Amino acid sequence: MPRQYPIERLRDIGIIAHIDAGKTTVTERVLFYTGISHKIGEVHEGQAVMDWMEQERERGITITSAATTCFWIPLEFTGLVDQAARKAKEFRFNIIDTPGHVDFTIEVERSLRVLDGGVVVFDGVAGVEPQSETVWHQADRYHVPRICFINKLDRLGASFEKSLASIHERLTPHAVALQLPIGIEDSFSGVVDLLLEKAIRFEGEHGEKVVYGDIPENMKAEVRKAREALIEKIVEHDDTLMEKYLAGEMPSVDELRAVLRKATITGKVIPVLCGSALKNKGVQPLLDAVVYYLPSPPELPPVEGTHPKTEAQETREPDDNMPFAALAFKVATDPYVGQLTFFRVYSGTLGRGSYVLNTTSGEKERIGRIVRMHANTREEVEEMFAGDIGAIVGLKNTSTGDTLCAPEKPIVLERITIPEPVISVRIEPKSKADEEKLGMALRRLAEEDPTFRVSGDQETGDTIISGMGELHLEIIVDRMKREFSVDANVGAPQVAYKETVLTTAEAEGKYIRQTGGRGQYGHVWLRVEPTERGSGFEFVDAIRGGVIPNEFIPAVGKGVKEAMDKGIVAGYPMVDAKVTLYDGSYHDVDSSEAAFKIAGSMAFQEAAKRAKPVMLEPVMSLSVVVPEQFLGDITGDISSRRGRIEELGERGQMKEVDSKVPLSEMFGYATQLRSMTQGRGAFTMEFSHYEEVPGNIAQEIAAGKRR
Ligand code: GDP
Repeated sequence: MPRQYPIERLRDIGIIAHIDAGKTTVTERVLFYTGISHKIGEVHEGQAVMDWMEQERERGITITSAATTCFWIPLEFTGLVDQAARKAKEFRFNIIDTPGHVDFTIEVERSLRVLDGGVVVFDGVAGVEPQSETVWHQADRYHVPRICFINKLDRLGASFEKSLASIHERLTPHAVALQLPIGIEDSFSGVVDLLLEKAIRFEGEHGEKVVYGDIPENMKAEVRKAREALIEKIVEHDDTLMEKYLAGEMPSVDELRAVLRKATITGKVIPVLCGSALKNKGVQPLLDAVVYYLPSPPELPPVEGTHPKTEAQETREPDDNMPFAALAFKVATDPYVGQLTFFRVYSGTLGRGSYVLNTTSGEKERIGRIVRMHANTREEVEEMFAGDIGAIVGLKNTSTGDTLCAPEKPIVLERITIPEPVISVRIEPKSKADEEKLGMALRRLAEEDPTFRVSGDQETGDTIISGMGELHLEIIVDRMKREFSVDANVGAPQVAYKETVLTTAEAEGKYIRQTGGRGQYGHVWLRVEPTERGSGFEFVDAIRGGVIPNEFIPAVGKGVKEAMDKGIVAGYPMVDAKVTLYDGSYHDVDSSEAAFKIAGSMAFQEAAKRAKPVMLEPVMSLSVVVPEQFLGDITGDISSRRGRIEELGERGQMKEVDSKVPLSEMFGYATQLRSMTQGRGAFTMEFSHYEEVPGNIAQEIAAGKRR
């Protein structure tokens, strides 16, 4: 089957927002209005769609799907009656879910990577919040073109101007208003489109009737000024238009849109719209803006990757005729169909029944069913095309972040470093039945989320789960209960300490037993050296002249690795070290892999002890925003938590304190901050790096006096 939508009418977008700004409500409205638009012309269909919306709101499920497809005909074409003519103006949106909390950084980054454009939603009362900034900068890193939507203008205290000013001040000077609100708070009743010079109001029970009208008399001067600012901002990016404008000729709306489109896609301008999702105002023009200003796949540079063997740079154009390349960006469990692997096709096509190569795992996989997720249905499709987003049912060996591609044209699209978890908790199933369900639940959850790990405590047999923050683990435990009905006791959170060495040292390991019968003979010399923080572990074989036969060398590496995982100082895994095997000897009869493994482990322990082993702890970037009167208390408290203040800044009326603080000092900070600031402080925290633990504290940890 050929593709139904030309790729130019495709938009892969995400709705990005700080928690509570209204992402869910906006998404709901988007699905609602796009559902209706698809059904216009089908008599009495409207009611069914609305019923579905009510139900959906109660259950609140589909909108949390990793990707949802919907369709939109821009408002200027809704008058078309002829089905074919309508179809020719219809756009397909794939809306990719982006998590709202920075504890899920890797998920945020991965979703930013697969989307081509973002709608950033702000709370019109709070304006830019600390977390919006974090996500904004992540989007900058991935060069995601954006439009902004200032939501909640119906709320008491809302201000379009102030919110826009906070965007200018904290995020970007390139933001420009494309609309102005009509009224505010209780009287908020619609928006003025500055390009069209029209008032837009939203009538009908759910604001589904979009009515254009004249600009209110009392807004005319304000609109003229704002329109001028907008046009100046646009013509800046096009010489011809600029000349025209300077010569006193007003460019047409289409001309202005075309230039604004280019400038938005290259990130030079960020259009700002406004409304109230809850009160059903402003969402349809926002959808138009997605069509007009956010890119289709071919308008962005081709995706880059590397050849898995040669590491040579490769690119793939968003073209159905190029070799197939796709990124699996989310693995989820669906109650009806089982495991779903969400993917984005960058080039080529993917057909049901074909074979693809997973260049991350190295395995070939057969593609069974392919589905496209709609708001209220799941559509099974035969084929997916360049730019498409969908899900494969029942893939066995593919995890989040893997590349899938044509076996004869291998490419790796992404080499991501998955951050190591920094915090863990012990979980203990409440009953035998829970124990059985627990293993399955954790396996599923870990497949979905690469930053979440499960391990066992070898001594106690307990299960330990690790993740990126307290909230991350809380959510996992909550999902375990809700989705998998596992009842479990959860221990206190523990910091994921590590160990490393500070200097270079050498040591010998000898495991020789030669009394009676066949003996044991393993003998090695190792050198342990510190390497850069974050580099992990490297084992180097520098044996010359066969003093140890090749067949035993991997066993030495294994012994070293096992000893490293057990640690030297306090039982935490050792990292950031290079271990070189440079000498040793063997015995023709008595040598074995087992003997060399033990020798390797012994030599490593001895060398590491001599190489000044220390403990490392995760250090977090902490950003706190508080009213000035609390500044002293906040900085004092951070210092008492062994924190280092790095920057003091202004944030509108508030003060911002940026610091680095060890994670172990941060338990329960949310509560403490609330009580220190009468609930007026806010903070964000994110893993930064590992740092050496001061000696006295390391001793307390080793002695079990600290967690
Ligand atoms: P999310 O956390 O970003 O997904 O935000 P939600 O969509 O769940 O919204 C958070 C809260 O704000 C909910 O109580 C919504 O009803 C409310 N909300 C969302 N949009 C608006 C709006 O436009 N106006 C008002 N007054 N409240 C809104």
